[in-house]
Amino acid sequence: MATYRVQVQDTAEMFDVSPGETVLEAAIRAQVKLPHECTLGGCGTCRVKLAAGSVSYEEFPMALSPEEAEKGYALACQARPTSDLVISLPRVELTAPTRQQALITDIVERGRDVIHLSLALPDLDTFVYRPGQHMNVLLADGSHRSFSMASAPTGNLADFHVRRIPGGRFTDELLPQMQPGDTLDVELPHGTFRYHEEDYRSVVMVATGTGLSPVKCILESLMDDPDCPPVWLYWGMRSEADLYLHDEIAQWGKRLYDFRYVPVLSRPDTSWQGRRGYVQGAVVQDHADMSEHAIYLCGSPNMISTAKKDFLDRGASVDHIYVDGFNFQSRA
Ligand SMILES: Cc1cc2nc3c(=O)[nH]c(=O)nc-3n(C[C@H](O)[C@H](O)[C@H](O)COP(=O)(O)OP(=O)(O)OC[C@H]3O[C@@H](n4cnc5c(N)ncnc54)[C@H](O)[C@@H]3O)c2cc1C
Repeated sequence: MATYRVQVQDTAEMFDVSPGETVLEAAIRAQVKLPHECTLGGCGTCRVKLAAGSVSYEEFPMALSPEEAEKGYALACQARPTSDLVISLPRVELTAPTRQQALITDIVERGRDVIHLSLALPDLDTFVYRPGQHMNVLLADGSHRSFSMASAPTGNLADFHVRRIPGGRFTDELLPQMQPGDTLDVELPHGTFRYHEEDYRSVVMVATGTGLSPVKCILESLMDDPDCPPVWLYWGMRSEADLYLHDEIAQWGKRLYDFRYVPVLSRPDTSWQGRRGYVQGAVVQDHADMSEHAIYLCGSPNMISTAKKDFLDRGASVDHIYVDGFNFQSRA
C-alpha cells in the first residue's frame, strides 16, 4: 500500500495520507482543517469534491449516494485514496467556534418527548451563526452532544429542540434535571449546513422529529424576505401528539412568500385527516419531477439515505441536495 498526497484546492494546503488512513484522519494529523462532525459517514458534513484522483471505501457511507460519488463527491471521513488527490471544499465563511458558558433561561417540555431549551450567552454581545449550524454541549467525560439552533440569530440568545432519547446520558439523564439559572459548557457555532440562496430554486425541506430545528432556524431567517423562494416543508412524525410545533408552523405562511406545510404521520390514529406513511413517500407523491428543486434533508440518517435515493430517481440534482444527519453520539 502506498502513501498518497492530497492537495486542498481552495487553500493550497497539502498533506500525506499513510496506508490505511482516511483522508480526514490524515488531515487531522497534519492539522489541516476539513469540516467534519460524526466521522462515521452518516452526517455528510465532510463531503468534498474530488477535482482529481480517486478514492475507495471499506463500506460505502450512508450519507453519500452512488450518484454523488459518480459526480466526484467523496466523504473525507471514510474515503481512502487510491491515487494522489486534489480536493475542493464547500465555500462557506464561518465564524470560528468558541467555548462558552451558556445560561439556561427557559426549559419546558413540548409534545411527548421534546425539551424546548432557551440559552443566553452572557460573554457574547451577539451570537453570530449561520442558520442551519449547531452547538456542541461539552460533557464532563470529554465527549460532546450536538444540537441545532432552532431560532434565527437574535442578540446573544438561541433556542433548541432536544429530543429525549430513553437512556441518553445528556437528553434523558442530565438535561431534565436542569432548570433556569443553571449553566452548560458549550462550543459554538459548528457545522456547514446552511441555506443556499445562490440556488434560485424552489425549496423542498424534509425533516423528521427535531430535525425541524435547523429548518425552523433557516425559515425564520427568510421571513418577510422578498427573495424567499417557494418553500414546501414536509415534517415526518409518528403520531399527531408528536407534532410539537404544528400550530406555530401553520402560521408561517403569513410571513413566507409561498409556503406549503405538509405534516406526515407514520403511525396516526384513525382520526388523522392528513398525510400518512413515510415522509419521503409524501414528497414523491407530490413531486414527480424534482430536477428544479433545492432539497434540504434534516434528522434521521435512515430517512436521509432513503429520501436521497428516491429523489435522485425523480431527477433531483446531487449539487442541490443538502443534508444534516442527526447521528447518535454516545461513542464520541
Ligand atoms: C449535527 C447534529 C445536530 C443535531 N441536532 C439535534 C437537535 O437539534 N435536536 C435533537 O434532539 N438531536 C440533535 N442531534 C442528535 C443528538 O446529538 C443525539 O441524539 C445525541 O446522541 C443525544 O445524546 P444523549 O447523551 O442523550 O444520548 P447518548 O448517550 O448519546 O445515546 C444513548 C443511546 O441512544 C441512542 N441514540 C442517541 N441519539 C439517538 C437518536 N437521535 N435516535 C435514536 N437513538 C439515539 C444511542 O445510539 C445510544 O444507544 C444532532 C446530531 C448532530 C450530529
